[in-house]
Amino acid sequence: MPQSKQCPKCASSMGEGFVLDKTYGGAGVSLWVEGAPVKSFWTGISLGGRARSQIATWRCGRCGFLESYAAGAADDGAEAQKQEARVVLFAAVVLAFVLALVAGVLAARG
Ligand SMILES: [Zn+2]
Repeated sequence: MPQSKQCPKCASSMGEGFVLDKTYGGAGVSLWVEGAPVKSFWTGISLGGRARSQIATWRCGRCGFLESYAAGAADDGAEAQKQEARVVLFAAVVLAFVLALVAGVLAARG
């Protein structure tokens, strides 16, 4: 990754930063993920087992042009696969609880 960059649009200097991802649980750095996105009913997009790396983004101080690099060491995706499995398990437990609650209410009505 370059230490300093010149903007390809206006030739001014660019500074390093990152694109922030805000989620329900907090904030993180945007990631590059290997391959095309695959939708998941449980997690929005399935990430299991795919390589990923954090994205560094350079911004021109004059015109705002952004240039991104995913040059860091790629993660093999094993941790994200475990987290995806935890989300699915949690959703299944909540669904089972709701079904048990509904069944109890219906049984009480007779
Ligand atoms: Zn520029």
